[in-house]
Amino acid sequence: MKSAAVVNYAPEKGSVEIREIVKPTIGEEDILLEVANVGVCGSDLHQWTADHSWPVNYPVVLGHEFGGHILEIGKRVIGWKEGDRVVSETAAVIDPNNPMSRQGLYNLDPTRKGFGYGVDGAMTRFVRVPARCLHRVPQQLAFEQACLTEPSCVAYNAVIENSRVKPGDRVIVIGPGTIGILCAAMARLCGAEVALVGLETDKGRLAIGRQYGCETIIGDAQSWARQRDGLGADLIIDAAGVSNTLKLAIHWVRPNGQITKVGWGPQPLGFSIDPIVQKNVTLQGSFSHNWPIWERVIALLASGQLDVKPIIGGVWQVTEWHEAFEKMHNGEVVKSVLKPV
Ligand SMILES: [Zn+2]
Repeated sequence: MKSAAVVNYAPEKGSVEIREIVKPTIGEEDILLEVANVGVCGSDLHQWTADHSWPVNYPVVLGHEFGGHILEIGKRVIGWKEGDRVVSETAAVIDPNNPMSRQGLYNLDPTRKGFGYGVDGAMTRFVRVPARCLHRVPQQLAFEQACLTEPSCVAYNAVIENSRVKPGDRVIVIGPGTIGILCAAMARLCGAEVALVGLETDKGRLAIGRQYGCETIIGDAQSWARQRDGLGADLIIDAAGVSNTLKLAIHWVRPNGQITKVGWGPQPLGFSIDPIVQKNVTLQGSFSHNWPIWERVIALLASGQLDVKPIIGGVWQVTEWHEAFEKMHNGEVVKSVLKPV
């Protein structure tokens, strides 16, 4: 039995096409998942446009933001049954004995390999998933939204676990993509005043951000940062990643404040970061997520405290991946969601 899959087959720009692939066979500790929905991530776009900075195992099926029903169960899997509604974490391969894994921080195990670049991902009908990656999805949470658990976990890790946010804090989020908007939403849940910053071309995406109760700013956030007492914002989340946004963050953060960088940018900085010393600022990176974050985010989605519907720009069949990728790439939609054929 073959199904259509969105395959990234080579490191050259544009090397993505639909290929017919066979149903994967599973190991004793895996389940076979029948995919219901899979979100398109910025990193899928980066592999398509070949400006990514991580190693890819070509050819690979794209897609790591997914959920669906369990179809087959490996011999040694316990606690799951056929038909269960689940979402999957992204760390498809980890070394369970790595000291980071032993601490529960398997997302930081350097040997970790994720779906969509290290092993075959979910932009197809069937995907092989280790049972340890699974989380149960309550009936009231539709898969079109549940597949956004993963980016919501990225935002939860950046804002809740890796940053200090208190009610009344002033928080600036740079970059109105999926991660930026979800970071703004998380900071709002913490009771912060939030400004989401973008460029002139981001108007549509900023308007979506406003639905989460944040202010939006095009360009310079300096006066918003200094509005309360002239000193700057308590926390800056950099969800854009280019060198210049870190420069702005250093400028807008208050003394003893924090900058959390969740956006990637392979270019060298080209400016001095001495103000981080002078201002006694914490510069924090944030990467991926782990089991307790997934459980908490699913609870937020299921209760409606976090609503990802405004972010979803449409649902396309995997065979229409090009249109779904293109609309996200040119900023017409914040998040494209696919479904298998
Ligand atoms: Zn992602």
